Amino acid sequence: MTPEEFRAAAHVLVDWIADHRTRIAGLPVRSTVAPGAVATALGAEPPGSTRDIASLIAELDRTIVPGITQVQHPRNFAWFPSNASLASVLGDMASSGLGALGITWQAAPALTEVEEVVTDWLRQLTGLSEQWHGTIHDTASTAALVAMLAARERATGHGSERGGLQQAPAPLTVYASPQAHSSVAKAVLLAGYGRENLREIATDPKTYALDPAALDAAIRADLAAGLRPAAIVASIGSTGTTAVDPLADIVPIARAHGLWLHVDAAMAGSALLLPEYRWLVEGLDGADSLSWNPHKWMGTILDCSLFYVRNPAELVRVLSTDPSYLRSAVDGAVIQYKDWGIPLGRRFRALKLWFHLHLDGVEAIRARLRRDLANARWLTDQVEQTSGWRLLAPVPLQTLCLRHEPPGLVGPDGTMLDGSALDAHTLAWVEAVNATGEAFLTPITLDGRWVARISIGAEPTEQADVEALWRIVRREAERLAAPAGATTD
Ligand code: PLP
Repeated sequence: MTPEEFRAAAHVLVDWIADHRTRIAGLPVRSTVAPGAVATALGAEPPGSTRDIASLIAELDRTIVPGITQVQHPRNFAWFPSNASLASVLGDMASSGLGALGITWQAAPALTEVEEVVTDWLRQLTGLSEQWHGTIHDTASTAALVAMLAARERATGHGSERGGLQQAPAPLTVYASPQAHSSVAKAVLLAGYGRENLREIATDPKTYALDPAALDAAIRADLAAGLRPAAIVASIGSTGTTAVDPLADIVPIARAHGLWLHVDAAMAGSALLLPEYRWLVEGLDGADSLSWNPHKWMGTILDCSLFYVRNPAELVRVLSTDPSYLRSAVDGAVIQYKDWGIPLGRRFRALKLWFHLHLDGVEAIRARLRRDLANARWLTDQVEQTSGWRLLAPVPLQTLCLRHEPPGLVGPDGTMLDGSALDAHTLAWVEAVNATGEAFLTPITLDGRWVARISIGAEPTEQADVEALWRIVRREAERLAAPAGATTD
């Protein structure tokens, strides 16, 4: 494709993207395709001839769009917001168009230095102290893995430079709440600690936040048993309920025992843009690493996960490589981000943030986050004021866990009469909501029971959408709970 052919095709594609975003509210939120339908439509044979952009766009409409759950839809309340602001899409296009190769500073000085600058802008905008130095990973999962690798090496005195874990005198242990995201357990496994050395620490039964006393006791018990505690992962905004582990109490424990403390704020990190939410990370300065995803609520298109460390030298010692073909005269005077993470070749992700911050602006982003928090408070009030409905966890941010508890399944005093039937009812009404195509939410298990979960914060979601969701939710749940023959208003 020549630049002129690219120009013509790209104009058509950009128009299509803008049209798609304009009409997205009219699409079903959850994808309706059956497993295998997209693959079948594409055909098994590789294309033998070329097609033009118009024909590809027709196939985007016909095959690809129906095969996507529209997380940019105003009535998407599933998982966590996965916003893709169009301003950041432009940055992604610029990044792809430049085709830069981020393997060393020399390969693309701007790629390194824009990343240095924008991660520091985000540090300032979220109120982090100057102790923190940032890089951009693809995901929070990668950030957790990098943190667990660095923790392992600190705890073993850089054992990987000798015989590695195969020569470790005793198992290393890691501590996290059962509410921690599954990527934490995955990172612990991938870093070689072994599943049985990941300790699930008790949480407060009401807030689901990690209990610091239980954490301290678990570390002491492991030390007494001859094990080697290596790392703690604190969740700030856990995936299920957005529980907030008490950093101010966890930090002294980590410091007392010399453990690496990784703070996973993948979702809640966006809230740090709001000064009134900085309490979420009170005490952070005693931690070792922090990750959060602009590609969630803040809305810088995937993949864009910020990873901050207090001491980059601890990453470099573990992750650096120095093959002769990558050396240059400036080594030692510049940041080599390849030594702060796993991949060698890196994309120019920082441009997405740079475009997003310049074109949308931080004040507009802050206003949107505050809108979402207000919508969550509105919905919280509705649930609390409506008989037969219950919130199962506090709502510190924009995610609600709720249940419809009809008479017969739950007694007048709140006692659960038939847990299995209640689970079946919850799953049935959530599926009924999702099947309408008008809204989409994803349930979770909490304390062994299914609960509905509503995560507010898609970029186009206004209060009217949340009001509509509440109407749909009540209609479906109350309809399904009604005795046969009864009608609901
Ligand atoms: N941590 C938390 C608290 C999350 O909610 C998630 C995903 O939702 C992750 C980590 C993993 O994020 P990523 O998809 O960037 O790996």
